[in-house]
Amino acid sequence: MEKKDILAYSIEELKDFLVTIGEKTFRAKQIHEWLHKKLADDFDEMSNISKSLKEILKENFYIENLEIIKVMTSKIDKTQKFLFKLRDGNVIESVLMRYKHGNSVCISTQVGCRMGCRFCASTLDGLVRNLSSAEMLKEIYCIQKYSGERVSNIVLMGSGEPMDNFDNVINFVNMITSENSLHISQRNITISTCGLVENMNRFADLQPQVTLALSLHASDDETRRELMPIARKYSIAEVLEACQYYFDKTGRRITFEYSLVAGINDNLDEAKKLVNLVKNMNCHVNLIPVNPIKERDYKKSSLENIEAFKRHLEKNGINVTVRREMGSDIQGACGQLRKSYIDNET
Ligand code: SAH
Repeated sequence: MEKKDILAYSIEELKDFLVTIGEKTFRAKQIHEWLHKKLADDFDEMSNISKSLKEILKENFYIENLEIIKVMTSKIDKTQKFLFKLRDGNVIESVLMRYKHGNSVCISTQVGCRMGCRFCASTLDGLVRNLSSAEMLKEIYCIQKYSGERVSNIVLMGSGEPMDNFDNVINFVNMITSENSLHISQRNITISTCGLVENMNRFADLQPQVTLALSLHASDDETRRELMPIARKYSIAEVLEACQYYFDKTGRRITFEYSLVAGINDNLDEAKKLVNLVKNMNCHVNLIPVNPIKERDYKKSSLENIEAFKRHLEKNGINVTVRREMGSDIQGACGQLRKSYIDNET
């Protein structure tokens, strides 16, 4: 019999299982607590569960686990990048960022990615597979356990496209926000998408309180298509309509991510077009100086261009920040660490 992923079980589902083996149902809460509050990696840690019940659990279930292959710590800001090995041998990366307002973890949602954004390292070898909800939970649990520090914010901005792994991502959000697990507020979660319109709308219909970040990266369709293949499927107008729909349904201000690439999307004309696109929306623009990857020839915008771009947005009343580069000494760009690990192994 194939063992089941016990992290995916709710307390109710665990109760149902316990009934089938003639055990008391109050054990379900205890087991769940071991998994989702005390962050147990092994059934043997469950000290208030009898040996015989632990044996039955071991026969029927496994506890999803991530093996830490490598932890890199930034000397600049203590940001830590984790390289994890999954049960099937695939590797993913996650990042712990320490801010004054608390610890934020950036998680991967897929092994690789099939969106093909030109400047991104995660997508260079395509999509391998989706991560399960339990694997995403474990990215957080392992980091909280390893650091001994509470995680208060989560960003789904690591490798992968969250809206391309819709059901598992929604399930993950429901689980991590539950009072029976880490009870992280939806308002402290950000989901970043390259703009898969149908699934953005499906997400909005669930009326979440999560922040939606849209990777815009250009202010005209031609430039966006050059940087992001997905722009051949959806126009900027369609993507912005989906953002407005998300705002209407949730009341949550949209974040637009705009990675500045020298000579491609960083001139003042682009800034002017961007203002026209977003000026009537309740939004925030996050400018990201592109983090060059060795496989592509894109270069970071100059400090003057970044500053001028930002000033133009500010002058026109747009909320704008330039993303602080966390952990720039430890291969901060999406998927770079995983990629260099895989390339060295093969
Ligand atoms: N697939 C999602 C989330 C992944 S990446 C998305 O597209 O939004 C999170 C953000 O980092 C996205 O805005 C992405 O375009 C950007 N990004 C990826 N690689 C980058 C790089 N090398 N430099 C700057 N931004 C990058």
